Amino acid sequence: MAVGDRADPLLVVGSDLLGGPPLGMVPLVLGAEPIPESISVRGGDPARFLLEPVTAAAVVHPDGWVLLDGGFNLDVIRDPVARAAHYDYESYTAVVPPGDALAEGVAAAGLDWSRLAFAAISHVHLDHTGGLRLVPPGCRVVLQRREWEWLAGGAGRDETVIPADVLDADVRIQLLDGDTELAPGLRALDTRGHTPGHQSFVVELPDRTVVLACDAADLRRNITERVACGWTARAEDAAAAQRAIERLAELDGRPGVEVWPGHDPEWPAWQR
Ligand SMILES: [Zn+2]
Repeated sequence: MAVGDRADPLLVVGSDLLGGPPLGMVPLVLGAEPIPESISVRGGDPARFLLEPVTAAAVVHPDGWVLLDGGFNLDVIRDPVARAAHYDYESYTAVVPPGDALAEGVAAAGLDWSRLAFAAISHVHLDHTGGLRLVPPGCRVVLQRREWEWLAGGAGRDETVIPADVLDADVRIQLLDGDTELAPGLRALDTRGHTPGHQSFVVELPDRTVVLACDAADLRRNITERVACGWTARAEDAAAAQRAIERLAELDGRPGVEVWPGHDPEWPAWQR
């Protein structure tokens, strides 16, 4: 299906469905991945591997909830042929707990998929798109237009993307152009660089504001030292990745705002 067929021009995605600003946020850890330090920190050691959590979140509003990212596609990981087709073992693999961490995390939080207002994906890397298999048919999934165009342009195994996670999902793709109000107290931020259309999310909770950096900042260090990750999908996007870090660091310095990196082994949700 062509991009235009799937795009939806509405700017405010879920305000009519959610009944007000977030009441809370449920952090989700959906697996882990061994990542060379040099990927997560520019200038890092390529021989030092970090076991990084794969994170996501459910944002709970009065009349529904929103899924932000979705971890791995377990159907691919647990099928040896599909896994071999999509994962390059020389440089990357996935670690998942038994069961289905996303389904179980959502159920444990008392959330029902029938109340999911929409899902948003920070970017189309395979450790973020796998959760779309659980999203109900016809539900909206929000992506940046630049990211969609990168996917439609052929990003695949070499780019750590499983196109079918998005293209075959029975969902309605809604494309955004930069910073966008998604719902009361929930905003998408343009943090392109890691991938051409990467986005982060601002969640205004009753007691504080959490910014989910996703892969614009893998580690806390990226923010505190203002050093970008060591990898971008396109070499020419390195400067954009650094701009995204500066943007996140500025937000992190504001009173009442916490920026959570996407893949830190000391993920803030684990420190509470
Ligand atoms: Zn990524």
